[in-house]
Amino acid sequence: MNSANPPIPFLDINAMNSEVRRQLNGAWQDLMWSGEFVRGHAVGRFERMWAEYCGTSHAVGVANGTDAIWLALRGLGVGLGDEVIVPANTFVATVEAIVQAGAAPRFADVDPETLLLTPETLTAALTPRTRAAVVVHLYGQVADMDALDAVARRAGVVLVEDAAQAHGAQYHGRRAGSLGAAGCFSFYPGKNLGAFGDGGAVVTSDDVLAERIRELGDHGRRAGSHDEHVEIGVNSRLDTLQAAVLAAKLPRLDAWNEARREHVARYRERLDGCGVSLIGQPDGQLPAHHLAVVRVPERDRIRAELARDGIPTRVHYPTPCHRLKPYAQFGTPRLPVAERASREILSLPLSPHMTSDQVDRVAGALQRAMSLPEAVGV
Ligand SMILES: *Cc1c(COP(=O)(O)O)cnc(C)c1O
Repeated sequence: MNSANPPIPFLDINAMNSEVRRQLNGAWQDLMWSGEFVRGHAVGRFERMWAEYCGTSHAVGVANGTDAIWLALRGLGVGLGDEVIVPANTFVATVEAIVQAGAAPRFADVDPETLLLTPETLTAALTPRTRAAVVVHLYGQVADMDALDAVARRAGVVLVEDAAQAHGAQYHGRRAGSLGAAGCFSFYPGKNLGAFGDGGAVVTSDDVLAERIRELGDHGRRAGSHDEHVEIGVNSRLDTLQAAVLAAKLPRLDAWNEARREHVARYRERLDGCGVSLIGQPDGQLPAHHLAVVRVPERDRIRAELARDGIPTRVHYPTPCHRLKPYAQFGTPRLPVAERASREILSLPLSPHMTSDQVDRVAGALQRAMSLPEAVGV
């Protein structure tokens, strides 16, 4: 690493914030002097913007993406004694949320090309106790919701979308989050639309469900009332500050996602024929590409080589959830696709503001690392 080769950030959040610097500064100032730190006007405003963007009737702000999932499940009446199907290769939060709702996760395998839940893997995981499935749009690519929905309907199972990596992704012209009974988002700073801390939302076009989730997340308070607690809830609300930050950044989301698509297309082109392949892109959609993930043999050696070149990489995720110790109690089925993928996947740097030169440098370093004999550099 030298000055001609400055490190490439894995994700450049500052570059995104810089684009809306003036709006962000205004949002902080307004909030500070409004005194409305919780349940302020900016929350309702962002909720309306986010619902409209996603193409749903409602968006309910919550404290984080994990809460979005379990509140959606509880709002749908899923809980104790129920099983919820979940792909094993997801961030642990998806599974945590199922347990938090009181249900038992049932792990499913995924498609070998896209690493997404399929009608076949969903079917294979069904039992008489299955009440719901949380479909994860991993890396910003949308699972085949129409096909999954056909299976779910036959089985009497409700589909909840974990769209925490898929803000703005489109599936046959419809946004991720608007395709199931409820769509769950995280606004963790590193997501495609990120706040200045934790945040989340559930989107739905079901009026009753939206109201239930709002009540649950606000101490069980009946909507619009102050002291009428109609059920046992929790405190899970989107901060006014976070809502204001998200409202300032949302107008840029489509452009940032477009830039991500361009970079991923360039990665695909540059890496063609060198033994590295990006995760396959399903048909009929515009992905949000939260991450640029390749599959490589000898992943850990390649990672070390790239690190030496000043190129940070990560692994999303090194252990499929059914192999994580706390979740072994829910059964450890053999899920060969998810298990094999966990040993080969590698996430490359990806930011809307990275340059084509940076993409080329990463791709070049990866090609070099691939061509090195195995024993070198250990
Ligand atoms: C980030 C993420 C979550 C959890 O969101 P938090 O806001 O961190 O609680 C859930 N599922 C997936 C797939 C995620 O990437």
